[in-house]
Amino acid sequence: MKRIYNFSAGPSILPLPVLEKAQKELVNYADSGMSVMELSHRSELFTEIIMEAEQLLRELMDIPGDYKVLFVQGGASQQFAMVPMNLLGKSGKADYVNTGSWSKKAIKEAKKYGDIRVVASSEDANFTNIPVVDSGMTDPEADYVHITTNNTIEGTAFTEVPDTGTIPLVADMSSNILSEEIDVSKYGLIYAGAQKNIGPAGLTVVVIREDLIGKASENCPAMLDYKTHSDSGSLYNTPPTFGIYMAKLVFEWIKELGGLKEMERINREKAQLLYDFIDESELFTSPVDKDSRSIMNIPFVSPSAELDADFIKKAKAEGLETLKGHRSVGGMRASLYNAMPIEGVRSLVTFMKEFENNHE
Ligand SMILES: *Cc1c(COP(=O)(O)O)cnc(C)c1O
Repeated sequence: MKRIYNFSAGPSILPLPVLEKAQKELVNYADSGMSVMELSHRSELFTEIIMEAEQLLRELMDIPGDYKVLFVQGGASQQFAMVPMNLLGKSGKADYVNTGSWSKKAIKEAKKYGDIRVVASSEDANFTNIPVVDSGMTDPEADYVHITTNNTIEGTAFTEVPDTGTIPLVADMSSNILSEEIDVSKYGLIYAGAQKNIGPAGLTVVVIREDLIGKASENCPAMLDYKTHSDSGSLYNTPPTFGIYMAKLVFEWIKELGGLKEMERINREKAQLLYDFIDESELFTSPVDKDSRSIMNIPFVSPSAELDADFIKKAKAEGLETLKGHRSVGGMRASLYNAMPIEGVRSLVTFMKEFENNHE
């Protein structure tokens, strides 16, 4: 069986043991004579799956009891709207930190619903760093502060959680959820599209503090109201059942591996391997400030677009795929999500060395 190393930013690599387990159970889940895809979302078997998925996520992230876990659809992009629609209840004001393309989209969407301020931005520096955010910058009346913890396209990440005092901190963690230990209690709401570190596309995970639920306006569509999903245990309508099942398998895989502490150790080791090589390379460079580097998405460039293209083509021939940078920034990008084995990073570094040596 041929498997390549897939460095895609998303949808992205999944753990092979998870895919194999899903394959084994595909046509006959738990002796039901059916696939998970064919199970009623109200059946006993699916109820077990969704409850276990939630339980495992709570365990892995150490989610406090006063937080709800919601399994919804619409991607992180739908959260760009749901967050303001649900949380702008008091002052109608919110503060956003602009750290890249996804932040910009979140800001643009939020502006439709309230008085949105950008309190810090690295746009002037082409988003190559994470700006300083301190509690003095945020409006004491703001209903929430929004950050993008890991900037998938630009390859930057917050290394510290900004202190927003009593103002709820909302975080788009689409590309680094479950990659390291975090303190959930520092956030009011965390959301993530599943297709980077959780499972297949189509599922979105929301972790929300209970007191932030039930604040949407009367005319908020039911499907966009957190309360609807919270009250129904994410079963108001048909949820993405297969996606939730796959997420459960991924959560089990992380737990078996040793949880987020071990996951973080492995992720740091993988990222270090690649950054160390980039730092010593005379051909490849990282566009990102050292203190703002992501351990999930690592962009790098050669001196020319032609050489970049040649590198991407030759890497693909070696089974190192989807290394092309986002169309908005060019160059290369290696996404080293949880499921990327360290051997994949070693192969990439070996290939980069070879490419550099063959290039005079
Ligand atoms: C991928 C991504 C998104 C968009 O996710 P969708 O699920 O496609 O809507 C938003 N934010 C971040 C940080 C991402 O990485």
